[in-house]
Amino acid sequence: MTVISYVNGRYLPHAHAYVHIEDRGFQFSDAVYEVIAVQNGRLVDGEGHLERLERSLNELSISPPMSRSALRCVIKALLRRNRVKFGSLYIQVSRGQAPRDFAFPSGIRPTLVMSVKRQKPFDADAISQGVKVITIPDIRWKRCDIKSVSLLAPAMGKTEAVNRGAFEAWQVDGEGLISEGTSSNAWIVTPEGELVTRHTDHAILGGITRHALLQLAREDGLKVVERAFSVAEAQAAAEAFTTSTTAFIRAVVQIDDTVIGTGEAGTFYKKLVALYGQHIARSTSS
Ligand code: PMP
Repeated sequence: MTVISYVNGRYLPHAHAYVHIEDRGFQFSDAVYEVIAVQNGRLVDGEGHLERLERSLNELSISPPMSRSALRCVIKALLRRNRVKFGSLYIQVSRGQAPRDFAFPSGIRPTLVMSVKRQKPFDADAISQGVKVITIPDIRWKRCDIKSVSLLAPAMGKTEAVNRGAFEAWQVDGEGLISEGTSSNAWIVTPEGELVTRHTDHAILGGITRHALLQLAREDGLKVVERAFSVAEAQAAAEAFTTSTTAFIRAVVQIDDTVIGTGEAGTFYKKLVALYGQHIARSTSS
């Protein structure tokens, strides 16, 4: 079956889906994106992702390519054309195409691209296998709250993780505090049983999975604290995990050379995976 992608109003075979070389996304990383999980043919936390997309565009003064309801129609059509039941939907919006010049040009039409990727369904048992993370210096810019396509630093970090046999790299800021993973948010459970993840500011991306889990944990009565933590605190934690749209929740059982807790997915982790599984089922059933 031919995979179909969307480029500026056209549904094209993926092999023929292009943007121009003078697109500012290509020239300057002048673009933002979203990745949304598809489960059961429906978006998980779709509205949260579309809201974050609007925020990223607004922060960079890029015009929205269309209204949110029009965007929903295109997404629906693309999922239907590709018959995707489980996978991810990618949305990219660049400022548009213009002769190369650093300053933002005015009056150009934003470029809108969407594509889909098939993946295995959410499977609590499969993701409960613990993973290793490494720590690396955070060399990114100071507006990590914007979901920009400028992903070179995270790509370098993830490559280092892969080369060192790790699932993810957690980035460490100038104060020795963990900001976040290259494509995920970082969490720990303290020995006192507090669930901790870094507060949102310009240093991290406000993850949609992070937001959903915070809400689920609070509703369940767990003690949750949003604050930064150091590498040493993470290594001494009872549990650790990392969250993202595509990886869901992964138990971190090793940070650099230090084994975390029992070296296996812990009780908090299992509880949160169960809550998140229910959240997916609820939000994709009607
Ligand atoms: N931080 C960064 C830097 C990311 O790239 C991602 C993945 N998009 C996340 C956190 C997790 O965000 P989300 O849960 O919305 O996928």
